[in-house]
Amino acid sequence: MNDKERRATTEALFRDVNERIAESAERFDATGTEFVCECSDPSCTHRVAASLAEYEAVRDEPTTFLVLPGHEQGDIEKVVSDRGRFRIVDKVQAVVRRTVIRLNPRTAG
Ligand SMILES: [Zn+2]
Repeated sequence: MNDKERRATTEALFRDVNERIAESAERFDATGTEFVCECSDPSCTHRVAASLAEYEAVRDEPTTFLVLPGHEQGDIEKVVSDRGRFRIVDKVQAVVRRTVIRLNPRTAG
């Protein structure tokens, strides 16, 4: 696994964690919740406050991720939306794009 794949895999793991968080938030009818930052730093433990609707908008695309401002990585992604509390980044680096699409939990079926 090269560096790009490793970073993409880390981001995909954080995305999986957030999918669980979104599921339980839905179950308890919460409108807003705290997600984990989906950046490529495996030691990042920061939380991102977002509503379920905001989270769903990020998940609409298999290549967009939710990160804390300043946690975006210019060499693999670009900021497509700045919401103040968080930024939405789109993977532009080819290997990273391919990896996060392959690991997208919502592609099944
Ligand atoms: Zn982060």
